[in-house]
Amino acid sequence: MGAALVLGATACSGDTATSSSSDLPAPDCPTTAIPITVSVNQWGNIVEQLAGKCGTVSTVIASATGDPHDYEPGTGDIAKFTNAQMVVVNGMGYDEWASKAIDANNPDVDVVSAAKVNNVADGANPHLWYNPTYVTATANAITAQLKSLVPAADSYFDQQQTDFNTAMEPYFAEISKINTGASGKTYGATEGVFDYMAAACGLTDLTPKGYQNATENESDPAPGDITAFDKDLTAKKMDVLIYNTQTEGSIPNQLKATAESADVPVVNVTETMPAEATTFQQWQVSQLQELSQALGLS
Ligand SMILES: [Zn+2]
Repeated sequence: MGAALVLGATACSGDTATSSSSDLPAPDCPTTAIPITVSVNQWGNIVEQLAGKCGTVSTVIASATGDPHDYEPGTGDIAKFTNAQMVVVNGMGYDEWASKAIDANNPDVDVVSAAKVNNVADGANPHLWYNPTYVTATANAITAQLKSLVPAADSYFDQQQTDFNTAMEPYFAEISKINTGASGKTYGATEGVFDYMAAACGLTDLTPKGYQNATENESDPAPGDITAFDKDLTAKKMDVLIYNTQTEGSIPNQLKATAESADVPVVNVTETMPAEATTFQQWQVSQLQELSQALGLS
């Protein structure tokens, strides 16, 4: 393994993210907190930040060990949806199990779906939390929903949103740094989880099409597609390989090994927020810093 994840090392830019919360004790919710259920922790952490003490957030997939694409909720998970006053999902079939649980147990609950907020077409890349524009729009929709459910906490939610936006500044700064410094650089990816972010960073996707189509359809790539990818890595056709550590398997592992022996830097990313990450922003910034390093920017 090449560069290790250095979580918490947001040294230069992280200060702005923490100062607002450390200056003063967080204010209490002016009214009773509402129960909110979120399908996956990449959105769950954002909801926690925006709801603050006015929301009791339950997240169904709270660790980065499994693959949320094919999750089967247990009875405890279903109960979280039954008791919720507000639900947040990714949508687009990514967390279909959550939408089914809502329809069956709590069909009138207010739902914020990132896919609906952003009008994303069915069949598009479902990893919406990797798209900075979608993250911002979804966060705004979450705040609007919170305000409509708990009008007494209107100004409380405004403050939470301001703090959230401040905490997002290092994230946007890192994206624009890569954009400025790495234009024209290229990548290949073992899975499309990071594609929106790579595009936002100005990188060009050189993942062989046959391989990419197979992973998008969750089928195994043909041997010829794997050989093509292997060859491109060996020839250093791409500047970095993006590796989703949550969809390990013999094929991604083989590509990773090829990249390593060809000295193509491997950048590890995760589908959901890992346990050691403290916030969505810190998780993302840490991955972006790893990418930035792999591209020779820092
Ligand atoms: Zn995925």
